[in-house]
Amino acid sequence: MYLRAEALNAFLAMAQAARKDGAELRIVSSYRSGSYQEGLYERAVRRDGLSQRYSAPPGHSEHQLGTTVDLSDARGTSVLEEGFARTFESRWLEQNAERFGFRRSYRDDTVARTGYVTEPWHWRYHGAVAAGK
Ligand SMILES: [Zn+2]
Repeated sequence: MYLRAEALNAFLAMAQAARKDGAELRIVSSYRSGSYQEGLYERAVRRDGLSQRYSAPPGHSEHQLGTTVDLSDARGTSVLEEGFARTFESRWLEQNAERFGFRRSYRDDTVARTGYVTEPWHWRYHGAVAAGK
């Protein structure tokens, strides 16, 4: 299983609209299985200890939902780094992604609630509710 069909279709529509505006979106990471997420989590804990706040334990990652993507620009500027926020593509997403049903999960104002660091690249498809349809 990869992205759910409705999330994939919404992403493709969004990427097409972005391209018209000169923003080239690329998917860096989308669906992850539980065992793959487990490997990422264990590696993060080995490197940075149990207090690390960027990798979720298996069963807790939004990437296992099949509705979530990590995005970059086509040039690969600051992939999975906060610097992505300064790219044209990131600014385009902030302005337009909600129209296509995508919302950023981890923002400066969600750190306290979620425990996760801000991630300008991580977008979850919430569907027509988010799109206001
Ligand atoms: Zn992510």
